[in-house]
Amino acid sequence: MESQKLVEKSSQYLWLPFTQMKDYDENPLIIESGEGVRLRDIDGNEYLDGYSSLWLNVHGHRKEEINIAIKQQLDKIAHSTLLGAANVPSILLAEKLIDLAPNNLKRVFYSDSGATSVEIAIKMAYQYWQNKGRGKKQKFITLQNAYHGDTVGAISVGKVDIFHRVYKSLMFDSLVVPFPDPYHHPESLDPETIRDRALEELENLLKEHHEEIAGMTVESIIQGAGGMNIMPKGYLKGIEKLCRKYEVLLIVDEVATGFGRTGKMFAVEHEGVEPDIMTVAKGITAGYLPIAATLTTEEIYQAFYDDYTSLKTFFHGHSYTGNQLGCAAALANLEIFEKEQLVQQVQMKSKLIETLLEPLSEHPHVGDIRQLGMICGIELVKDKEKKIPFEWSQRIGYWTTIKMRELGMLTRPVGDTIVFMPPLVTSEKELEEMVSIMKAAIEEMTNKAASTVEV
Ligand SMILES: *Cc1c(COP(=O)(O)O)cnc(C)c1O
Repeated sequence: MESQKLVEKSSQYLWLPFTQMKDYDENPLIIESGEGVRLRDIDGNEYLDGYSSLWLNVHGHRKEEINIAIKQQLDKIAHSTLLGAANVPSILLAEKLIDLAPNNLKRVFYSDSGATSVEIAIKMAYQYWQNKGRGKKQKFITLQNAYHGDTVGAISVGKVDIFHRVYKSLMFDSLVVPFPDPYHHPESLDPETIRDRALEELENLLKEHHEEIAGMTVESIIQGAGGMNIMPKGYLKGIEKLCRKYEVLLIVDEVATGFGRTGKMFAVEHEGVEPDIMTVAKGITAGYLPIAATLTTEEIYQAFYDDYTSLKTFFHGHSYTGNQLGCAAALANLEIFEKEQLVQQVQMKSKLIETLLEPLSEHPHVGDIRQLGMICGIELVKDKEKKIPFEWSQRIGYWTTIKMRELGMLTRPVGDTIVFMPPLVTSEKELEEMVSIMKAAIEEMTNKAASTVEV
C-alpha cells in the first residue's frame, strides 16, 4: 500500500499507547522492517534504535537464532493454556530463569507484560499474608517517582505524578517514601547522607506501620520512567535489611533492568540483594514476544500449597500465560547470552558509552548524565548552575527526540531527560553514530529553546 494511505489509516484507526494522538498526527511514523540496530519506515528511511524499541531489544532485530527457534516451535504448537497444564518450553525456561536468578528464588509464575508481572507480585504478597493468617498486612510501600506499569494495581504502587494523578480515586493507597536522588535533592548533600536519611525515614515508617504492610515495591537500582534516577550505593541493600527486620516482603521490579542491561544479569546482583518476589519482562524474549514472569521463594509458594478446599489457591491467570512461542524465543535469547558472553560485553560497552557521553557533560544545557550499564539518561536544563528546568510546556525532551528522528535515530524521553538505551549488541561504530546524533539534536534544540522568549 502506498505510504500516504497508510499514514491516513494509522490516524484513522489506531490509538497509540502513552501517546497524545494530536502529536502523532503531526509527526507520524510507521515502521515496516528492521535489521540489527536499525529500523526502517514505510518510506525507506532508516533509524538507529536508540531506545531498544522501548527498552526491549537485546540482539538487534531479526536475530537468526531467535527467528529459527520461533519457527521450530511454530511447527509443534503455537499456544496451549497453562491453566492446569504445563507445556515444554515453559518448563525449560522456568528452570533456566531459576538458574540465573538470585539463589533464594525457586518458582516462576508467568504472565505477558511488565505490568501484569507486578500486578501478580502485589496480589501474591497480599494473599501470602492472608494464607498465613496475618490478614492485617494489606498495604504496600513504594518510592516517590516509582513506575511499575499501567494496570490499576501497578499504578497504585506507581508515583509519577503526571501519569498517575488523574486516576487517583481509582487506585488503592500506598505509603510513599522519598527516593534518595542526589541530583534533584534540594540541599545538594552527598549521596551517603541522602541515602542514610532515606533509610531512616523508611525505618520510621516501618516501625509505626509494619503490622499493616504486606510488601515494598522497588525498581532495581535505577528508576526508569520516573526519570532515570540512580540510587546511591547501599540503598537497595538497606531496604532489603529493613524489609527483613520488619517482616515486609521485598518486591523488586527488574522489568527494565533484567537480562544484562546494567552489566549484571539482574541489577540486584550489584548489591547482592535477594528479593522475596522479583518481576521480569522486557528483555526476557530479547524484544520478540510478550512474556513476563514473577519469580518467588519456596516459602511463598508453600503458603499457597494445600488442599483445594482450604481456598489458598492463587486465583490469578491470563489467557496467554506461558505461551510456547514466547518461551521458545526466551530460551533462544538466553542461550545467546551465554554463547556471546553478553553480560561481559555490556560491561565493556558501558565504559565506551561513558567515554562517548563525557564531552556532553560540558554542554551548558546538560544538567546531569546518569548511567547504569547500558541505561543512560541525559537531563536537559535551562540553567545548569542553578539546576533550573526548562518550562514544562516547552517540551524540550520531546522536541529533542523529534529532531533526533530527523537525524536518523529513535528514542523517547522521560520528561526532559533523553533516554539512551541501545540494544546490548550495538557496535562501537553504531554507538558513536548514535551519540553524535544525540549531541547534534541537543545542541540545536536547547539553543532554540533557550532563545525562545518566555510568555
Ligand atoms: C516498562 C516497565 C514496566 C511495565 O512493563 P510493560 O511490559 O510495559 O507492562 C514495569 N516496570 C518497569 C520498571 C518498567 O520499566
